[in-house]
Amino acid sequence: VNEFALIGRHFQRAPRSAAVRVGIGDDGAVISPVPGAEWVVSVDMLVEGRHFFAGTDARRLGHKTLAVNLSDLAAMGAAPRFALLAGALPDADDEWLAAFMQGFRALADRFGVELIGGDTTRGPRNLCVTIVGELPAGTALTRGGAQSGDDVYVSGVLGDAALALAMLQGRTSLAPDAASVAQLRLEAPVPRVTLGVALRGVATAALDLSDGLTGDLGHLLTDSGVGAVIDVGVIPCSPALAGKLAGDERALALACLLAGGDDYELCFTAAPALRERIAAIAASLQIPLTRIGGVGPGAGLTVRDEGGTPISLLPAAFDHFA
Ligand code: ADP
Ligand code: MG
Repeated sequence: VNEFALIGRHFQRAPRSAAVRVGIGDDGAVISPVPGAEWVVSVDMLVEGRHFFAGTDARRLGHKTLAVNLSDLAAMGAAPRFALLAGALPDADDEWLAAFMQGFRALADRFGVELIGGDTTRGPRNLCVTIVGELPAGTALTRGGAQSGDDVYVSGVLGDAALALAMLQGRTSLAPDAASVAQLRLEAPVPRVTLGVALRGVATAALDLSDGLTGDLGHLLTDSGVGAVIDVGVIPCSPALAGKLAGDERALALACLLAGGDDYELCFTAAPALRERIAAIAASLQIPLTRIGGVGPGAGLTVRDEGGTPISLLPAAFDHFA
């Protein structure tokens, strides 16, 4: 199988959206913007041995490669439109690529994303997606708009992806059911695309949780020039993580909850006057939204334990170069 056979077989497909005038097959794609819209563009790369284990299920990896990018668009409040996929692959493994693209396409179809180009080369396995999303001009959610007095929310439950990683690394163990739930959260996160769109005009600031709550929320606070207080006791987590939090693996559980990466939930701030509106969004999308604290005028993040005492030494957020 040569490069062009692979491209023809796995990537090329007739354009589906009228916005794609030239799709895969030419030197570049030609896409037309909707009048009055802005595009949000982002790129994210997954490297074998760094972001995923060698031997990870190809289908799940295809899903996750797109999911992490959709999560960035969700954090901006953008509706996903187009994706470009650059892949370095160790060999022309047709079966692996078919499974990978099955996972990628299922998620792309679910959220209306069209693959419009990419690049394919031989090399250590490395997958990189460039994503284009769209929103009405001026409505993007950024990290910079949080106001003193706002509430702080997170979607879903936190810490399961890090818990699965700890399990796969032999640092903890889980009952079979909890293990498969956590591993699914790590390997096939569902990006909060519908939530991001629903938060336009509601959230004052937002970001997605890819590197851990305290570090990521810290970025939002810095960019907004405010501080916040959050409570460990109300941060939503799975029963498995809650069990460890209350037991002798508390340190590990706390690190998963506060600094675990790869959750791809959204964290956002909003005025207290919008609490009912936010509860209605949670109900209509069937996505749990939990108020975990509040924004204040000071700087930095204070995390209080279940008894209300500030935790002095927070677990560190993930940093590739630390
Ligand atoms: P060029 O050499 O002109 O850059 P390529 O031979 O790399 O073009 O790619 C041919 C066509 O196939 C291009 O339209 C490109 O966007 C597309 N393509 C290549 N690899 C991928 C991929 N992994 N996913 C999607 N499209 C791809
Ligand atoms: Mg070319």
